[in-house]
Formats: sequence, C-alpha cells, structure tokens
Amino acid sequence: MPLHDMVRDQIEHRGVHDARVLEAMRTVPRHRFVLPQDRCDAYGDFPLPIGFHQTISQPYIVAYMCELARLEPSDHVLELGTGSGYNAAVISRLVDHVYSIEIVPELARRAAEKLRQLHYDNITVRLGDGHDGWPEAAPFDAIIVTAAAEQVPQPLLDQLVEGGRLVIPVGSPFSSQELILLEKRQGVIRAAPKLPVRFVPLTGKGQTQD
Ligand code: SAM
Repeated sequence: MPLHDMVRDQIEHRGVHDARVLEAMRTVPRHRFVLPQDRCDAYGDFPLPIGFHQTISQPYIVAYMCELARLEPSDHVLELGTGSGYNAAVISRLVDHVYSIEIVPELARRAAEKLRQLHYDNITVRLGDGHDGWPEAAPFDAIIVTAAAEQVPQPLLDQLVEGGRLVIPVGSPFSSQELILLEKRQGVIRAAPKLPVRFVPLTGKGQTQD
C-alpha cells in the first residue's frame, strides 16, 4: 500500500484530523525504517519487528500519540524508546527539536545512523535508560513514551514545562494497558485515559522485567 493511501485509510479515516500530523506522516518514508525483508509491508496497519524483541509501532498509533501531544513548531520534545527512529522522525517534522533515548545499544546506533543518513538534523539520540528522562535537556513541552510503563516515572513529570503534555502507555505487559495523556497545569498533573493499547514493556530501572 502506498504511503499516501496509508495516511488516508488507516489514519485520517480512523479519526486523526490534525493537519500537521497528517502531513508529517505523509513525508516520512516508513519503508526506510523497517528491516529490509519487511519493506513490502512497511505501509500496513501493524507494528513490525526491528530485532532485539522490539517493534516499530503501528502508524496509526504514532499519529494518534502525536495528535494527543498537541505538538507546536517551537516545542522541545523527549521521546523514550527510539527503536527504529521512525516515530522520532515523524515528531521532528512537527517541532523544533527531538531528544530520543534508547536502551538497546544496537538499536540506538542504528537509528542514529539512519536519521543522519536521511537528514533528520533536529533529532538527538542518546543510549540509556529513559526512566530518568534527560535532565540536561529538560524541561520539555511534551514527552512521548513508546514502551509500556507499569507506573508513570516521576522524573518525566518533573521534566515537563507548565502546560506540558506526557503521552504514555501504562499497564502490565501481561494484562491490559491504557494510553494516558497527562498534563501539567499550575503544577498539578491531570491524567486522562485515551485508548486501550498493547506496547512492548519499558525495561530498565523501576520496571519489574528487564
Ligand atoms: N518509537 C519506536 C519506533 O518508532 O520504532 C518504537 C519503539 S518500540 C515499540 C519501544 C522501544 O523502547 C524499544 O526500542 C525498546 O528497546 C525501548 N525501551 C524500552 N525500555 C526503555 C528504557 N527504559 N529507556 C529507553 N528505551 C527503552
């Protein structure tokens, strides 16, 4: 399925209407971020394996998370879970700068190299455990977490600006997970559940499975 058909049929028709998000999804070549043997499936409505028991997320979920985060051109955004680099590339079309953390060394190296080759120059990839956020680059206008946490890591809430948004799947890998939007207003965090989801688990500090 061609890229533009994917955006129309799987994303726009399913309720994502933010014009900037739809345009960003049309410009990022997902087939360049999947494994070579999966290129013909790159525009399907599903996640795909990227090695190391990890996945590149379903395109609809990438678009929906970006819409929920209400990204603005001047925003500084933190992504947890660089994976293939695809989601970071989409976010980078919508904001000023993306800081992305990946815990698997080979994935971090591969994604950084791919993003450099494709000239996504406003993304900084770091190898590490995203549980503590990225204190040197904080605060962030938005934080997008692309692996499921059992609890929302407190450092991420601390690193949001006033008015900041955190989009994160929360729940156990063995039961239900919910995509949650948390917003900081006058120092108070408000949480709204948005969608039942199924993500690979966040590993590292603070999570029970490594
Ligand atoms: N955003 C990715 C993309 O566009 O390909 C998909 C990410 S995949 C669903 C989740 C990623 O989170 C995996 O690459 C995994 O290694 C990473 N991850 C898991 N726990 C992490 C942690 N504590 N810190 C940083 N990355 C983590």
